[in-house]
Amino acid sequence: MGFEKFGKISYTSETKVKDFVNYLEKGKIMATQCRMCKKIYFPPRMDCSNCLSVDRMNWREINNEWTLITYTTAHFAPTGFEDDTPYMLAIAESAEGLKLFARLSKDVSEDQVKLGMKLKLTPVKLPNGKIVYEFKPLGE
Ligand SMILES: [Zn+2]
Repeated sequence: MGFEKFGKISYTSETKVKDFVNYLEKGKIMATQCRMCKKIYFPPRMDCSNCLSVDRMNWREINNEWTLITYTTAHFAPTGFEDDTPYMLAIAESAEGLKLFARLSKDVSEDQVKLGMKLKLTPVKLPNGKIVYEFKPLGE
C-alpha cells in the first residue's frame, strides 16, 4: 500500500509520501506543510526545500479550488500513457497559491475549456487498481 499504486508507472523513489496515496483512496487531496517555515507542498514532500527541514511536515487538506491558467492537448505521451492520447494537460493555481500540472478529465471536451474556469482535483481509480488525480470542473 504505497506509492507503487500511484500513477500507471512506479514512483518507487517517493515511498516517503505513501500516506498521500492512502488519503487519495479515501477521496482526500492532501498537501504537506512545513512546521518550521509554513511552506505548503503539493504534490506532497517530506523534506522542505525552502528551509531544509527534514521530516517536519504536517498533512493538511488543500483548499480544493483551482483556476485554470493554461492547458494543452497532448498527442504524444510518456511511457505508460501512450494509449490515452489525445488528452488535455492543465496548469492551474489554487486559492493557496500552489501551481500544479495535471491532466484534465476526459469528461471535459476541448470546447468546454476556458481559461480562468474553476477546477477541482479529484482522485481517479484506474482499472489496474492504481490511483491518479486529475482536474474536473468545479461543481460536478
Ligand atoms: Zn520549511
